[in-house]
Amino acid sequence: QAERLAAALSALNDEQRAAVEHGGGTLVGRDERPLLVIAGAGSGKTSTLAHRVAHLIAGGVDPQRLLLLTFSRRAAQEMERRAGQVLARVLGLKSEKPPALPWAGTFHGIGARLLREYAAHIGLNDHFTIHDRGDAEDLMGLVRHELGLSSSVNRFPRKGTCLSIYSRCVNTRAPLADVLAEAFPWCAEWEAELKRLFGAYVEAKQQQNVLDYDDLLLYWAGMVAEPALAALVGARFDHVLVDEYQDTNLLQASILRALKPDGRGVTVVGDDAQSIYSFRGATVRNILDFPSQFSQAARVVTLERNYRSTQPILDVSNRVIAQAAERHAKTLWTDKPSAGRPQLVLVPDEAQQAVWVADKVLAHREGGLALKSQAVLFRAATHSAPLELELARRNIPFVKYGGLKFLEASHVKDLLAVLRFAENPRGRMAGFRVTQLIPGIGPATGARLLDAVDQAADPVAAVRGFVPPSAARAEWAVFAEAYAALCAPSLPWPADVELAVRWYLPHLDRLYDDPSGVRRGDVEQLARLASGYASRERFLTELTLDPPEATSDKPGPPSLDEDYLILSTIHSAKGQEWNSVHVLNVVDGCLPADVAQSAHELEEERRLLYVAMTRARDHLHLLVPQRFYVTQQAVRGDRHLYANRTRFISERDLAGFEQQTWPPPPERPPAVPPPAAVIDLRNRMRAAWS
Ligand code: ATP
Ligand code: MG
Repeated sequence: QAERLAAALSALNDEQRAAVEHGGGTLVGRDERPLLVIAGAGSGKTSTLAHRVAHLIAGGVDPQRLLLLTFSRRAAQEMERRAGQVLARVLGLKSEKPPALPWAGTFHGIGARLLREYAAHIGLNDHFTIHDRGDAEDLMGLVRHELGLSSSVNRFPRKGTCLSIYSRCVNTRAPLADVLAEAFPWCAEWEAELKRLFGAYVEAKQQQNVLDYDDLLLYWAGMVAEPALAALVGARFDHVLVDEYQDTNLLQASILRALKPDGRGVTVVGDDAQSIYSFRGATVRNILDFPSQFSQAARVVTLERNYRSTQPILDVSNRVIAQAAERHAKTLWTDKPSAGRPQLVLVPDEAQQAVWVADKVLAHREGGLALKSQAVLFRAATHSAPLELELARRNIPFVKYGGLKFLEASHVKDLLAVLRFAENPRGRMAGFRVTQLIPGIGPATGARLLDAVDQAADPVAAVRGFVPPSAARAEWAVFAEAYAALCAPSLPWPADVELAVRWYLPHLDRLYDDPSGVRRGDVEQLARLASGYASRERFLTELTLDPPEATSDKPGPPSLDEDYLILSTIHSAKGQEWNSVHVLNVVDGCLPADVAQSAHELEEERRLLYVAMTRARDHLHLLVPQRFYVTQQAVRGDRHLYANRTRFISERDLAGFEQQTWPPPPERPPAVPPPAAVIDLRNRMRAAWS
């Protein structure tokens, strides 16, 4: 095995290997310091982490005792796959599946699991359901309404703004007054009302046995702030490893510290130059301060060799980030052979931009690049609309990440609400949605039913015994039977989903116009997805926390074996790479976005462009439409802007690009001088009739 291990690690460079083997030396010289790998894009941080996981397991660490925290569930699965590959080589496995990583996931997903497991210790009911952003906003709106803040007081912040303020307080652990002063100054006059609102919102969540996204971190942090529980939970894991550490927030850092106060077994990797989530409360301070966060100082490893991109791509990317104000200086180099300079392409507008990109994508495919190895990246999910039209017109299949999610479609939400209501009868958001699907039941009746359920010891009996207006009685009886079946403990998963679908489909047909069958297709797709999860609770939790984020031109999430072009927001493209990358709308007003005003916000926009550019392996194309359509918040309306190239690429940086203007300016025909004499056509006109 030692030989195979050496072979599996032989591709690593010295620094990567040091990080992989950290702490694993002889007992005498054992290094138990926490480990930080801080390094630039494409330097192999994620692969180093995957190798480290494999190395640990090969060295005898039980996979159950590895906690691996990633940015998305997709990233966790990718890590599992990569670690599995290395491990299979080390263990000399051929076809056997290497051990899975049961504790690989996002902070939120792992938080949900731990909270359920330890619910009894912290006063939670383990059947809690989780509110996604939409549910959380709706509940905030409802509570606001109940407090009389929406109707009687005009100009009170919208429910979405209220939730953002609340969320920022939670994630940055800052007092309300500070958050208002810093980020929401126009809401500062409502401090007292907001405080009352948030108090009532917290009570409503507890009453209904629901947690929102932020609660998953907040309760987790609260749980491990209790020394006895911290010891209990921390002792389950020998190693805690975190990828993309630059995008964690203070709560997440505090969880890590509480789990492993001396930092033993803690490994984090990240790149401060790629920190792009401060709008959600993430702070780059976490990674910069990491070395001194534990009772023993951390070991810091830096990686400088880039394995992803060609030197010309690195050159232009390095120049974009070089002007950043605060950063851990890094220089990246590569010896990857280059396929020419990256392109900077001027196009007239977004429609022409779409045409150019579609042409180029097809040209790359002709040249042997599968669609899947190409991606188109953009600042905001709406920016790909013209391209989506163009791709559809040419029958180029695509999948879009980061846009309107599959789960946000109302028919999908309907079906999930049925399952949620069965999982947690006290969850009013789901319950209310279900009642409103039944003809003859309005909001008042719906609320009356939920009150009855709330007060009853047995929710099924309350639903059965409920007497709606006479027009709704027959349908209600049908629902009550389906609901009783869904709540029966003997029902094997995923039979619940089939049952719910059977009840729901007639309502779908009645409620929505669905001639193409797309909605039915989605519902059936959801039923198929369900079989991949162990239980109803896991299905609902994981779907809510990390939904299949892709939408494609076909209903439901895509299957993996098809070839399709990737469309993604830059935020969702984090950590990934493609052979060819197009970045749309590299203009001022978009990158940086026109809403970014402060120096701090502008810096984040710069990092965002850096993240986009460093996704490319061989080909990078930056598109600069000269007319760009923006929704300007300031003027409350849409308008076209004559756009300029992004300010992050200076005149001097242009030398690094191959510049192109498309379509090429028409050549002027040579000027022909007019004849010297006047030819009076009027004479001829008269002559024709004489
Ligand atoms: P990002 O900052 O974008 O998350 P990263 O630092 O995590 O990037 P990886 O995604 O791990 O970088 O690696 C980038 C690419 O380099 C991958 O294709 C990976 O397989 C490759 N790579 C990493 N290390 C080596 C190595 N020692 N030899 C060859 N290829 C490597
Ligand atoms: Mg990575």
